[in-house]
Amino acid sequence: MFRNLIGPRAVIRPTLTLPTVVAPSAIARWSKRGYASEAEEKDLVIIGGGVAGYVAAIKAGQEGLKVACIEKRGTLGGTCLNVGCIPSKALLNNSHLYHQILHDTKNRGIDVGDVKLNLGQMMKAKDTAVSGLTKGIEFLFKKNNVEYIKGTGAFTGEHEIKVNLSEGGEQTVTAKNIIIATGSEATPFPGLEIDEKRIITSTGAIALDKVPESMVVIGGGIIGLEMGSVWSRLGAKVTVVEFLGQIGGPGMDAEISKAAQKTLKKQGIEFKLNTKVLGGDTSGEKIKLDVEAAKGGKQETLDADVVLVAIGRRPYTAGLGLENIGLETDDKGRLVIDSEYRTKIPHIRVIGDCTFGPMLAHKAEEEGVAAIEYIKKGYGHVNYGAIPSVMYTHPEVAWVGQNEQEVKASGVKYKVGTFPFSANSRAKTNLDSEGLVKIIADAETDRILGVHIIGPSAGELIAEGTLAIEYGASSEDIGRTSHAHPTLSEAFKEAAMATYGKAIHF
Ligand SMILES: Cc1cc2nc3c(=O)[nH]c(=O)nc-3n(C[C@H](O)[C@H](O)[C@H](O)COP(=O)(O)OP(=O)(O)OC[C@H]3O[C@@H](n4cnc5c(N)ncnc54)[C@H](O)[C@@H]3O)c2cc1C
Repeated sequence: MFRNLIGPRAVIRPTLTLPTVVAPSAIARWSKRGYASEAEEKDLVIIGGGVAGYVAAIKAGQEGLKVACIEKRGTLGGTCLNVGCIPSKALLNNSHLYHQILHDTKNRGIDVGDVKLNLGQMMKAKDTAVSGLTKGIEFLFKKNNVEYIKGTGAFTGEHEIKVNLSEGGEQTVTAKNIIIATGSEATPFPGLEIDEKRIITSTGAIALDKVPESMVVIGGGIIGLEMGSVWSRLGAKVTVVEFLGQIGGPGMDAEISKAAQKTLKKQGIEFKLNTKVLGGDTSGEKIKLDVEAAKGGKQETLDADVVLVAIGRRPYTAGLGLENIGLETDDKGRLVIDSEYRTKIPHIRVIGDCTFGPMLAHKAEEEGVAAIEYIKKGYGHVNYGAIPSVMYTHPEVAWVGQNEQEVKASGVKYKVGTFPFSANSRAKTNLDSEGLVKIIADAETDRILGVHIIGPSAGELIAEGTLAIEYGASSEDIGRTSHAHPTLSEAFKEAAMATYGKAIHF
């Protein structure tokens, strides 16, 4: 039986200002029972209005739950809409256009005159996209009867949250079910103090007011490479320092990672792999970063105007009052949950970046929907084996499922089919044919285990791979499916054909 639907009815009420003569026992009784009007009662309160929280709130509204969402930022959409996915993609898109106009028009028969960067306008275009989308969420809240409480929430009891309202004052919220969706923050680098001007995280990297002459990016993961690409295209000399022997993080297929590094290097980004940063000195005009080989040995000092710290993100639960209800985080700062997102206090669930799994907006979104389904119906669904990853550089890199090194390590017998975009008619027509599609399938059953793409629109093409894995498709299923001509998706079909037989055009 689903226990969470049974319990005291949720109540939202302003904190009572009590005369000092009221006995503490009476206060405790009041705060347990609540003195709100019936109209204010809630079934669910969500702390955090990021992708996980706002999606859960909208879904809860659609399911007929009385729901409130507490967000302290002042706008909805969390990291993703305000300082993450959306602003970074706005800058990636426009910096790519700028770079293309500078370097890739003549052979297309387009003569351009004086091309100038207007960084202020590029930032404005980004801000317009962000504000349009965050306001859109507010509209969706209204449409789906979600109450939006602006402020910082902290637990004062297992069913009770005190909100420090952004406009001043306090409000106490009680609810039958609570979802924590407080997200993540950039992991700091010990010894380098973030000022978001010279030593920056991705938040500073989407808001610089001039193009730095030189930028060192600490960390060659997706965020570091995306933001490094933006500033390299706009004219900065970018050096990426990465502790591991490959870029893109451990999830990226090693073959694809090598190809990505090669193209980004051609675009002017320098890489120092197997290298660790020891520390930095910010006292001079240039920042001085001491680095050495990861295994010890050769040391050198890198000069930079700006250092981007992009060594990962960590769950954010500060100030949430977890100690008041006895909830703890693990050694990585994640709130511990079961397969239905429940903490050890079953009516308190956790979704998104502040718990397990990849820190991705679409993963957070899936969990938002599933958590509400568990509350409302007792069942939900997220396939963690079919969550795609995308790096929005040019060319883009996208993958889903297992990479070759993972399949090899699992001991499963497998086969690989690849198809280069240089043999794809649409890519050739567009004069944008770098990259390849790589499909890994089980050697015995032909079931697709992983899809890895580097190339134009890889982030769009990966949707087909994700669907294939979700439905347990074989490479032959894909190879025998008609794909429109001429499209980039034909490269996907041909890679599938190469997996169980032979490609036609290569
Ligand atoms: C530069 C960058 C680029 C990215 N690009 C992509 C991408 O292209 N694709 C992708 O899938 N992912 C991307 N991500 C990751 C993505 O942004 C996160 O995975 C996603 O935002 C997680 O959603 P969330 O709701 O769990 O957390 P968040 O989006 O972090 O939202 C949590 C919210 O909770 C609020 N909050 C915290 N504590 C409290 C409290 N006590 N009271 C009230 N409110 C509180 C915070 O203010 C925040 O708004 C990117 C991230 C960054 C930094």
